[in-house]
Amino acid sequence: MRKPALSVFLAACLAVLSLLCVFPSAAEETVDVLSSPLPLLVNKDYPVSDDFVPADLVLLSDVLDSSLVRIKGNRKIYAVRAAAEALETMLEAARDDGIRNWQISTAYRSIADQQKVMNNRINYYRKKNPSWSKSRAKSAALRSVAEPGCSEHHLGLAFDINVPNTSAFKGTKQCKWLHEHCWDYGFIVRYQEDKTAITGFTAEEWHIRYVGVEHSVPMRDNNFCLEEYLESVEAEPGFLLVEEIPADELPVL
Ligand SMILES: [Zn+2]
Repeated sequence: MRKPALSVFLAACLAVLSLLCVFPSAAEETVDVLSSPLPLLVNKDYPVSDDFVPADLVLLSDVLDSSLVRIKGNRKIYAVRAAAEALETMLEAARDDGIRNWQISTAYRSIADQQKVMNNRINYYRKKNPSWSKSRAKSAALRSVAEPGCSEHHLGLAFDINVPNTSAFKGTKQCKWLHEHCWDYGFIVRYQEDKTAITGFTAEEWHIRYVGVEHSVPMRDNNFCLEEYLESVEAEPGFLLVEEIPADELPVL
């Protein structure tokens, strides 16, 4: 992994997007997270800024057909419109294959939301282990919860999808269908079992990320996780067999 070069590119990408995609009438600065030629990477090495807000967030219940997918707890869950629309198209295809009964439990999360998730997990560990210090509880929490700013959910392009009233998603027919077909609709299974050393996350069968078919298909065909894919493009820019991205727009890394 040549992190410095990738870091420079991604930081530049986010900075340029922040400058280019400000909506003057909006109260907050919003970033078009899909205008970059490559998918944006967000993790503990590449956090988003504290004021990062993706552009074009939509309320899922306004966009998704309720006969296709349930919103957990009827909560107000937001996602970037293009990702929500791709999700709907994918779930229509699943329905046509006889696979129904889906639920979205999480999509976009603000930095403040992520802080709440982190605090709740720390409190959970401290209650369970009263002798633990706060920092020990935080270390334990960090094994399954990303620090605020470091969660891919900040992009508004990731969904936690599962089956209503079922605790385990792995092994369900929905999980099997999703892992086989999501790539055809622009999604990737972001945290896979054989990539944990690279992604830094344990496997999350329920977490999918929208990157667009021009990226999801070559990632599937080469068995690349997002980090490997970005590295491969850096090493060999012509690797992307994508007509939508003119060669002169590929990043110089
Ligand atoms: Zn997730």
